[in-house]
Amino acid sequence: MKALSFFRTIQARLIVIYVLLILIAMQLIGVYFVSSMKNSLTDNFTKDLKARAEMLSILTADKFGSETGTADEESAVESLRGMVNNLYINGAEIQVLDASGKIITTSIPSQNDYVGQRNTQTVVSRALQGISDNEEYIIADDNVRKKVVAKPVISGDKVVGAIYIAADMKDLYATMSRINSVFLSGLLLALALTAVLGVILAHTITHPIKEMTKHATAVAEGRFNRKVPVFGNDEIGQLSQAFNYMTDRLREALLQNEEEKEKLSSILANMSDGVVATDESGAVILMNTRAALMLGAEGPLPAGASLGGLLGLEPEQSVSVTQGVPQSAMLHLSPMVGEDPNIVRVTFTPIHRREGGRIAGTIAVLQDVTEQENLEESRREFVANVSHELRTPLTTIKSYAEALDDGALEDPQLAVRFVGVIRNETERMIRLVTDLLHLSRLDSKESSLRIQQTDITEMLEDVADRFSFQIRQKRIHISTRVRKDVATAWLDRDQIDQVLGNLVSNALKYTPEGGTIQLEAHKSEDGMLAVSVRDSGIGIPKKDIERIFERFYRVDKARSRNMGGTGLGLSIAREIVKAHGGSISLQSELNEGSLVTFTLPLMKQRGSGA
Ligand code: ADP
Repeated sequence: MKALSFFRTIQARLIVIYVLLILIAMQLIGVYFVSSMKNSLTDNFTKDLKARAEMLSILTADKFGSETGTADEESAVESLRGMVNNLYINGAEIQVLDASGKIITTSIPSQNDYVGQRNTQTVVSRALQGISDNEEYIIADDNVRKKVVAKPVISGDKVVGAIYIAADMKDLYATMSRINSVFLSGLLLALALTAVLGVILAHTITHPIKEMTKHATAVAEGRFNRKVPVFGNDEIGQLSQAFNYMTDRLREALLQNEEEKEKLSSILANMSDGVVATDESGAVILMNTRAALMLGAEGPLPAGASLGGLLGLEPEQSVSVTQGVPQSAMLHLSPMVGEDPNIVRVTFTPIHRREGGRIAGTIAVLQDVTEQENLEESRREFVANVSHELRTPLTTIKSYAEALDDGALEDPQLAVRFVGVIRNETERMIRLVTDLLHLSRLDSKESSLRIQQTDITEMLEDVADRFSFQIRQKRIHISTRVRKDVATAWLDRDQIDQVLGNLVSNALKYTPEGGTIQLEAHKSEDGMLAVSVRDSGIGIPKKDIERIFERFYRVDKARSRNMGGTGLGLSIAREIVKAHGGSISLQSELNEGSLVTFTLPLMKQRGSGA
């Protein structure tokens, strides 16, 4: 498997191609070289043989023609034998033949037995016919390859005999095989060198590629810190440089992207509005912390949670939101079970794709408008209350005025009573309007406090004095008690007089004859001045205590109105105490009495006016 994958590498391919190229080139050269060398060697060999045969035929020409059996003939044969032996050609057999083809002499002693016998080979017959160029390639009985040439011996115009040479080609073939083996070893050496060169060359190409592959993998895994080494200025070097440049740009782009993401996520995290983003199918893909808080959906959302499900939208609205219809909705969302629902305004805005204009998702912006809505609600309630409070005395005044007009004026007693009622109602209206003006000034922080050091005992006794007439009238027992540690305090005397006046007036109003009222001042646990007004009156039901400081809130509207109350006394007291940096609370038991306590800072507060 490993070997197989090695052969798939560029390195292996390059080596194989190189080796094959050299092999083919050498083969082509080898075939051409060996065949032309063989031809030239054989040609030379044949030419040499022919030349020798030619020379021998010329030399032997005058030795023919002696009478058979004569001494001449014998000496001629002897001389021919000498010539033939002198012309020894390495391993070749030279025969001198007479005109009939009989062997006169031979150069090989072992062949002497054949002397006198006829050589019937074709080359010999052709030579005896006078044809001078005769050659043949034969394989002898002993399997030896031989070259045979025959030349006619011409004396005068007559063919008197022939020279026959049969030369062994062993040496020629041996030479050729030596050359072949030299060539082969050269080929093998060249192949080995080529393979080594191929390895080196392939390495120079594949090494940078491998390096680049490693770096590309590292870049893909987010590791940008390394650089591809540049090995030269060639194409691969330029590719390495381009790769490094690309890595730098990619890192910059990713960093920028990361920064943008960071910015976006910190904007989203710190937004006071909730943001929920969905994909085109309406599945939630992003939700900021504020939205999670509003929706009570802390922790990871289930995969594929839909916006409609998360906000509790109607199915039709979910569909139209997913279809990209911009719209807004008011939702009542409870972040926790049992908590009061928050009023949330959700604005849905579709996200359009850049190309094609298709909807890529929706952004829902959640604004908590609970406070706004509550303010709006209390404003509406306030206006309704004021109108109602004003209408009642106005209607009374109108009806009494009409009664007077209709003749009650004639009856002096009735007239005096009616005018008294009209005056009372007018005074109540004046009180109401004064209270409202006071409240409005406190709301708009228009009236600055005139803080001064005040003697607490004197202040409480002063209040008791102011109501002494009513106290005596109702035979109520009033007591004031000031602890020593709170002899004086820094406060706006006029304003606090009003608070005490409202509280004592309430205690008087709601305490039956013979009851008690206690004014007390002490230092609270947190080092504030605590002033309390306790009465033994009718008390307030538990369910009303919570709302008692609201404007126009009364336990018993008719009774309060009869008592001349405006329903604003406690709320004015609360605003004044708040302006001083204190707090006010009320405890009460029905039919047993009430205790209103307010706290004020004992020391002069920094920044408060003198
Ligand atoms: P009002 O002008 O009607 O007294 P307040 O704001 O002073 O308006 O008081 C609001 C309501 O609280 C009163 O209508 C009354 O029902 C109740 N309340 C206030 N003080 C007392 C008290 N000391 N004892 C019983 N009820 C009280």
